[in-house]
Amino acid sequence: MALTEFGLIENYFTELGPADNTLLPLRVGDDCALLNIPAGQQLATSIDTLVAGVHFPAQADPYNISRRALRVTVSDLAAMGAQPLAFTLALTLPAADPDWLAAFSRGLRADAEAFAIALIGGDTTAGPVLTITIQVLGLVPAGAALLRSGARPGDAVLVSGTLGDAHAALACLEVADAELNAEQRYWLDRYYTPAPRLALGAALRGLASAAIDVSDGLAADLGHILRRSAVGAVLELDTLPLSDALRIHPQARTFALSGGDDYELCFTVPAGRLAETLALAQSLNLRLTRIGTITREPTLLGRNGGGDPTPLSADGYRHF
Ligand code: ADP
Ligand code: MG
Repeated sequence: MALTEFGLIENYFTELGPADNTLLPLRVGDDCALLNIPAGQQLATSIDTLVAGVHFPAQADPYNISRRALRVTVSDLAAMGAQPLAFTLALTLPAADPDWLAAFSRGLRADAEAFAIALIGGDTTAGPVLTITIQVLGLVPAGAALLRSGARPGDAVLVSGTLGDAHAALACLEVADAELNAEQRYWLDRYYTPAPRLALGAALRGLASAAIDVSDGLAADLGHILRRSAVGAVLELDTLPLSDALRIHPQARTFALSGGDDYELCFTVPAGRLAETLALAQSLNLRLTRIGTITREPTLLGRNGGGDPTPLSADGYRHF
């Protein structure tokens, strides 16, 4: 890799760098990246690693792999109410295949432009398993970041978009393209290109009492809010938002409650601000659903229809 490292970076990654951004004065190529942080802003940063065969199929389309890698990390910025600024990319490659790299770079470029996030550096190594690490850097007004710790009894619990689609996709990752039906295509699209809810996160600053992005499943991720906030919740299970594509699936509700990879935002707002929160759905053109209520008793309960709330099974907290 040493022989080709610089050519590889020059060919596939330098063009994703910043252009005319006073906050990012350097292009890729120095020993460090430099960032100018505006007064009154905090730098928000998060890092995610995707390993071939663990987090995506090794044979997946590289155009999709890079987009998914960037999107799942940018989603953490959304969950904090931060705006994307820059990212770094650490790549471990079994081989330097030009076709693979070109498609990977094209996907990354498309989404870096879409989310206004510039590549400012990275590391490239040869190694046995394709591994992609992306660190994102974002800006948030000082003191305004959305945390997991602010939920209070009586707050409404809401979620954006629909849940469970990406989990349904896991069963079709290896299905030949020609054999996919319309629903499976939709699930796969949700899996490979989750939409970081950046506009929602920004709108929730000063409004939401707590927020998280749903990466491990609603029950598990809401559980993080509950523990950090020392509260519990009752979920109205028949309100969990399902896509038309998932509704037909026999396990739709289980996937919505416990399946991960959707990268929607789960958040809480004081009851008195529920109406203005729900009104955001229209201005953001994004489905927002109230799915439950925060309670003083620190347990997570679920209720079906008008029934009594019962503790959600441990499965709700475990990965599949
Ligand atoms: P050093 O030896 O000083 O750590 P490297 O040889 O690893 O530097 O990298 C040279 C330059 O290329 C640095 O500016 C680094 O940030 C950048 N770079 C290396 N790999 C990548 C990558 N995958 N994506 C973006 N920039 C990269
Ligand atoms: Mg290096």
